Amino acid sequence: MIGGGLATVEDPRWPGYRHNIHSFFHRALDQLPWYRELELERRGARYVEPELNVALLLKSGDALCWWTDFDRTAESFAQFSARDAATLKRWRDAFVPILEKILGPEARRPPIDADVRKKTLERTAEGRLLLETSALSPLEFVEREFEHPVVRAGLLFFNGLREVDLRLRGFGHHIPALLASPAKAQMCLGGAARLADALAAAVRESGGEIRTACEPKRIVVERGRVVGVETTEGELIRARFVASSLNPQQTFIDLLESVPAEVRAKAEKFEYNLLAPLFALNLVLKAPPRYRTLDKPFMVILGLERYEQFNEIVRYHEAGRIPPTVMWGACPTLFDPSQAPAGGHTAFMWEKLPYRLQSGHWDQARDAHAGQMLELWTQYAPNLADDTIGWFARTPLDTERSLPNMRYGDLLVGSFANGQVGYDRPFRGAGQYRAPIEGLYLCGSSSHPGGNVTGLPGYNAAQVLLADLGLAEFGPRH
Ligand SMILES: Cc1cc2nc3c(=O)[nH]c(=O)nc-3n(C[C@H](O)[C@H](O)[C@H](O)COP(=O)(O)OP(=O)(O)OC[C@H]3O[C@@H](n4cnc5c(N)ncnc54)[C@H](O)[C@@H]3O)c2cc1C
Repeated sequence: MIGGGLATVEDPRWPGYRHNIHSFFHRALDQLPWYRELELERRGARYVEPELNVALLLKSGDALCWWTDFDRTAESFAQFSARDAATLKRWRDAFVPILEKILGPEARRPPIDADVRKKTLERTAEGRLLLETSALSPLEFVEREFEHPVVRAGLLFFNGLREVDLRLRGFGHHIPALLASPAKAQMCLGGAARLADALAAAVRESGGEIRTACEPKRIVVERGRVVGVETTEGELIRARFVASSLNPQQTFIDLLESVPAEVRAKAEKFEYNLLAPLFALNLVLKAPPRYRTLDKPFMVILGLERYEQFNEIVRYHEAGRIPPTVMWGACPTLFDPSQAPAGGHTAFMWEKLPYRLQSGHWDQARDAHAGQMLELWTQYAPNLADDTIGWFARTPLDTERSLPNMRYGDLLVGSFANGQVGYDRPFRGAGQYRAPIEGLYLCGSSSHPGGNVTGLPGYNAAQVLLADLGLAEFGPRH
């Protein structure tokens, strides 16, 4: 199937109800350079950015809200703590130029060596503030800067959604960067798969060919240079270069027959996120979930009351146990009726759960856990008791089964720990999209800037590739 993490499907039991079984929230996607360059809106990928963008709903009915309008967000924070609202504004103002001048451009071009980067950053006040903030972990940053437990929980959860390990030093800047970012959650009209369809149209209109139901058996190397791919059907597709969006184990161990021992060892050591795998509950509905105190929220976070829950969730993951549920999701049809038959609705909730259960197996535990999530959801939106027509659930194991590059259900296709960041992602020597084998390139989420639907690993890889092909005018843009 075309699209990977851009999948919109129907359950044959309830035709016409469309579900986005992998990615759904696409952050400021229509602001990304490739979206404009490939004219994806014209090709059918249109985005909406709902106003009440994110709401952390508490059992009391109070909610911490992120609006597309920053002042409304600050007002919501002030309802919990005036001091935190002031801190929010201060960090947002400090990080707007950092985002515009440093972090944004860094994500959109091939990464540079960490030492060179550090020296460059040390030359400006903004760079120094970025380095100082990065030295902390997200947890340390939030504990140092914010006081209210709900604000702390909201900020950390929101950041954790991006699967950064909240305890990891080197990522303290993620929270102020999020606060400063004008980039809000968006959804693709018609479903996430529409973006894949638009991309496919761009490829075909440029003379490209896309093969589905076609599996690579090996990447073919002749005299030390990659010369093509052989399919499991035995066809040899010759090419000037091969670009792999698969993970390092797939690319370097499964698909390459002979790899230098040092490269193989690095690929073997590539690590995955413990906290990324998701369990998904998808509902088919007669009416949207109705929350007492929220009108048309986009992303809703439920079950999170205290920020200490993070440490508990980590401990449960480490032990392979299911923690008390904290979940988030949306009702896409509130903003896009085309994703269900007239009058009908779809909604989903995701929960971070361990890939491996200490006791039992996901295939047996799936339905019972989905039932518990629905029960909790109904406490916040009581109409679900009457308005649910049906549901289905997917486990972290199901994610890996449909997308094997997401090893261990890691939807980011590789952790940011273990040094796997920037110039060293996936590992030193392959961090600029050129694999250490001539003619082979990397272009998936195991490369900078990492997972989620940003298109940037591919966009950056294309810059490197085109430069290597002598099409310099498309080379890295600094
Ligand atoms: C439940 C869930 C929810 C998510 N929600 C969001 C979200 O809201 N927002 C967001 O931005 N991201 C989200 N993500 C993450 C996002 O989907 C991924 O980070 C993104 O799709 C990774 O892109 P990629 O191109 O690296 O890999 P993929 O999108 O997985 O693409 C890899 C492609 O390679 C194919 N492939 C794998 N192995 C082989 C093989 N051996 N041979 C041939 N082909 C192969 C796959 O079929 C797939 O088509 C979510 C993921 C999941 C699972």
